[in-house]
Amino acid sequence: MSENDKAIEIERSADGVGECVPATILVGYVRKINEGRALKLSVNVSAFEDCSTYTVADGQSYVSLTMNAASVSKVLSGERAVTTLGHTMEGDGHEWEHERTKDNVSYFTCTDCGAAKVVEL
Ligand SMILES: [Zn+2]
Repeated sequence: MSENDKAIEIERSADGVGECVPATILVGYVRKINEGRALKLSVNVSAFEDCSTYTVADGQSYVSLTMNAASVSKVLSGERAVTTLGHTMEGDGHEWEHERTKDNVSYFTCTDCGAAKVVEL
């Protein structure tokens, strides 16, 4: 395979193709208290400290936490006692490694799943 063919192959499999997904970590639990008048979130401090943060225009930092709406519904209805509070780590989940740069185009390969991406400089 020529160098040119290889570049075309990389472009075809570029961006978002692969098996990696952003890591989701378990941060805590959600349960019903006070006969269902409130939901209590229990956050594991050490997991919370591992979460990625984002900063808004006024300089304040935030952490995004998510819970599955259907599961919360089941907690509210009493169908289940507890559900989880999660956090999705920043990024696309791939471990990008720079392969080479040629003609102002950089080629990256994921060391985990082999996916490739092309970034024009
Ligand atoms: Zn990957």
